[in-house]
Amino acid sequence: MTHLQRPDHLKPIHVVGGGLSGSEAAWQIARRGVPVVLHEMRPDRSTAVHKSGQFAELVCSNSFRSDDAEGSAIGLLHAEMRRLDSLVMHAADTHKLPAGGALAVDREGFAAAITAAIESEPLIDIRREEILEPPADWDSVIIATGPLTSPALADAIRALTGETALAFFDAIAPIVHRDSIDFDVTWFQSRYDKAGPAGSGADYINCPLTHAQYEAFIDALLAGEKIAFRDFEATPYFDGCLPIEVMAERGRETLRHGPMKPFGLTDPHRPDAKPYAVVQLRQDNKLGTLFNMVGFQTKLKHGDQVRIFRTIPGLAKAEFARLGGLHRNTFLNSPKLLDETLRLKAMPRLRFAGQITGCEGYVESAAIGLLAGRFAAAERLGERPLLPPPRTAHGALIGHITGGHIETIESGARSFQPMNINFGLFPPLGDGTARGAKKQALCARALADLAAWISTAVPHAAE
Ligand SMILES: Cc1cc2nc3c(=O)[nH]c(=O)nc-3n(C[C@H](O)[C@H](O)[C@H](O)COP(=O)(O)OP(=O)(O)OC[C@H]3O[C@@H](n4cnc5c(N)ncnc54)[C@H](O)[C@@H]3O)c2cc1C
Repeated sequence: MTHLQRPDHLKPIHVVGGGLSGSEAAWQIARRGVPVVLHEMRPDRSTAVHKSGQFAELVCSNSFRSDDAEGSAIGLLHAEMRRLDSLVMHAADTHKLPAGGALAVDREGFAAAITAAIESEPLIDIRREEILEPPADWDSVIIATGPLTSPALADAIRALTGETALAFFDAIAPIVHRDSIDFDVTWFQSRYDKAGPAGSGADYINCPLTHAQYEAFIDALLAGEKIAFRDFEATPYFDGCLPIEVMAERGRETLRHGPMKPFGLTDPHRPDAKPYAVVQLRQDNKLGTLFNMVGFQTKLKHGDQVRIFRTIPGLAKAEFARLGGLHRNTFLNSPKLLDETLRLKAMPRLRFAGQITGCEGYVESAAIGLLAGRFAAAERLGERPLLPPPRTAHGALIGHITGGHIETIESGARSFQPMNINFGLFPPLGDGTARGAKKQALCARALADLAAWISTAVPHAAE
């Protein structure tokens, strides 16, 4: 790894939070020769899930998921991060464990390696303290405090961004790859053909159920295995985002009068047969490659979600970009609030990174920390922060956070939800690539774009 010496008169960048994202951001800034102050509240004050004072502690699984850089989006992200001198990937590779095609790590060795690297980096000044609010004289700040941001700071962020702009629970509906939906069974139509402010009148994909199919579906929901809330997730439900299985428990017809109502829709495949119930899917990204199941937030176990949702007509072969859930989180309505380099539009001295921006997962959080660190360092050095090419995994991920998401067609609840990296976030290939070869082609294209970016556009890339 390279270390570029810079004049020591540079003012430091303040990074708040030494998790996956903040550790990577601090590292990237220091590698560019810019001083950093890293503020981490642990071990003096902890969160409900962290157990140590180590940087980059993994709070749950020890897996970084697939390491296949030729056929999986997360494996591609690993490969890109390695090429961008990522501390998190370096520590993960050093402490990997046998796990088939996945990259699993020895969590203690991993966190200890990150902590040692940060502690021995002369340009990083570590302060073990909770930040309640970033002081006015910090002119460049990265807030990377994660899904369990301390309550005082969360209040300060909410005051800065507006009360509806910081969500405290994910109400996650499953998201399906459009090209896995059967259009011989489903059709595009908005209820009563209403176009709305941004629609065409045919904005939803509709999956029709007969009476018998509906009853079987309700039975399956009631019998399905659910994930229990954790202790710290004490306030489970909000109005308007009840899990579908809870709605089903309240009455067998509740869903048919809620998200599955069949009104205002005509099945062009069977115009004379009125569906008994309809599941609707709404476009989820600008590219039109992903559709979310409207109102289908759920606490069903993932295996049961796949099994039960594939019984819905038209979804028999559905591939899910993400499955549903409802859990404690803290994240910004980033497409509205952040500029393309992750700065708060209303206060550009503040930049956000990690899961609080609306990505999900250890690796994704670290990748966004990597970018935030590079952007902040470039700014401090008087350079123009350079965005990653949109066809790379980094570009696709930041595109989802800062711009790729479409506003909901109806007015009402915000629709931006955190997401793992997946191929639905990448610009499509736009050629006749065979279905089986698409993933490889997307990966190859991304790595070629990244290589060009590193060689031409990133002045201080790793050697
Ligand atoms: C219960 C739970 C289980 C999860 N399981 C998984 C999983 O299995 N796999 C996966 O990929 N992802 C999982 N995640 C998501 C995971 O948290 C993120 O992927 C990742 O850790 C987020 O990285 P981050 O840097 O944004 O936040 P974190 O890694 O949480 O780091 C944030 C840091 O900020 C510190 N902090 C908070 N507030 C302040 C403050 N005011 N001042 C100073 N420091 C502060 C915290 O102590 C923490 O060290 C889970 C999340 C939760 C909540």
